[in-house]
Amino acid sequence: MISVASAIEIALSQARVADAVCTSLQQASGRVLAEDILSDIDMPPFDKSSMDGYALQAAATATAPVTLQVVGTIPAGVFPHFEVRPSQAAKIMTGAPLPKGADSVQMVEKTVPGQEESVQILEAVAAGQHVAKRGEVLRSQACVLSTGSYIGPQVLALLATVGREEVLTYACPRVGVLVTGDELVDISKYPAPGQIRNSNGYALLGQVQETGIEAVPLGIVSDDPKELSKKIRTGLANDVLLITGGVSMGEFDLVEKLLTEAGAEILFEAVNIKPGKPAVFGKAGKTLIFGLPGNPVSASTVFEVIVRPVLRKMMGFERFENIKVRARLTATFKSRTSRENYLPGWADVFAGKFVVHPVASMGSADVFAHARSNCYVIAPPEIDEFDEGEELDVMLRSDFWHGNARQSNLVTPLK
Ligand code: AMP
Ligand code: MG
Repeated sequence: MISVASAIEIALSQARVADAVCTSLQQASGRVLAEDILSDIDMPPFDKSSMDGYALQAAATATAPVTLQVVGTIPAGVFPHFEVRPSQAAKIMTGAPLPKGADSVQMVEKTVPGQEESVQILEAVAAGQHVAKRGEVLRSQACVLSTGSYIGPQVLALLATVGREEVLTYACPRVGVLVTGDELVDISKYPAPGQIRNSNGYALLGQVQETGIEAVPLGIVSDDPKELSKKIRTGLANDVLLITGGVSMGEFDLVEKLLTEAGAEILFEAVNIKPGKPAVFGKAGKTLIFGLPGNPVSASTVFEVIVRPVLRKMMGFERFENIKVRARLTATFKSRTSRENYLPGWADVFAGKFVVHPVASMGSADVFAHARSNCYVIAPPEIDEFDEGEELDVMLRSDFWHGNARQSNLVTPLK
C-alpha cells in the first residue's frame, strides 16, 4: 500500500499534456491557452473620453467658470473631423474619440448649457483629465497572454479585444466512465431486493464535467468476466478510463485482473486513504486507467484527491494540484484510522479566516453526508481525536465556491 502523496505523484507522472488544437473563442472557455497571444491593436485605439461631457483644452478652463463655444457633438463610434480651439468645446459621449486640439474632458455634471451653442464650464480641468490615452491599456504587438493561461471570462474578454476568433488551446482528454456491478440498476427503476441505484456514474460524469471535459458514459456492466472484459477493452480507446466498482477483494471484483489481461500495467493497487483504499491505477498504451472503489463516497473522494489533478495536468493547467487551506475545527471529532482520512466537511469563512464544520457521516456509503459537504477535512493517520479550535488541512471542492447557506444549515453537529 502506498501513501496518498505517492499515489498522486505516480498518477501525475503518467499524465501528458494534450495536443494543442485550434478552438473557436467560445469553445475555448474553460480551457488552457496553448500559445502566446500578441495584441493586434493599441487599446484604446484612439484617445478616448471616459466621461459624458465636453472635450476642450484644459488651459482654457484655468479661469473657470468660463463660457466656451460648442462646435459639435461626438457620439461613440464616430470619428470627429473638426478641431477644437482654445475658446471652444465639443459635446462628447463616453467612449467617443477626442477631437483634434482637445486634451481633456470636463464631465457634464460640472457644466451648464448656455445660450446659442455655448456651454459654461464650472470648474477647471487638468490636461488629460477624463481621457484614456491611445495604447494606455495595451500596445499593438505586445504579448498580452502566455501559454498556460486559464481561459476564464476575463481572459475571453481580452482575447476578444485583440480580435482572436480562434486560439490554440490544449485539447480535452477523452474520459470514459464505466460503471460495474451486478446489483446496479438505472435511476429510472425502483431497486428490487438486493439492487442499488447507480449513483457513481452520475457523480463521476459530473466531476469530469466540472473539470471542463465532456465525459463519455460507457454504461453499466455486470460482473460477468466476458461482458466486463469486452467493455474494458472498448473503454481503453479513451485517453482516460474511469471504472467504478469491482476493485475490492471480493470474488466478483475482477477489474484489476481483467485490466492486466487486456494488457494494462498496474502502477498501484491500494492507497493509504480512507475512504478509497482499494483504488487502482494503471496504464495501457497511452490510456490511463483508474479503478475506483464502488462505494459512492470512496469513488468520488478518490476522484477528487487523485484523478482531478491528473485531468487538470492533461488539460495543460500549470497549477493542477488540489488547493488545501488550514481551517479551524468548529467541533471535536474522532478519526481512529491508520489511513489518511478524508472526512466530509463544511468549510466557511468566519472573520476572514477559514473554519470547518465536520459533517457527521456513516462512512463510505453515506451519500447524504457527502452531499452536505463542500470540502474534505484531512485527518492524518494514527491520531484518534481532533479538538474544537484545532487547525487541520482542508481540501476545498468547487462546491465551496458554489455552495449556499441552506446547505450549511443542514450540517448536523457530530455526536
Ligand atoms: P464494490 O467496490 O464493487 O465491491 O462495491 C462496493 C459497494 O458500493 C457496494 O455496496 C455496491 O453496491 C456499491 N456500489 C458499487 N457501484 C456503485 C454505483 N455505481 N452506485 C452506487 N453504489 C455502488
Ligand atoms: Mg461490485
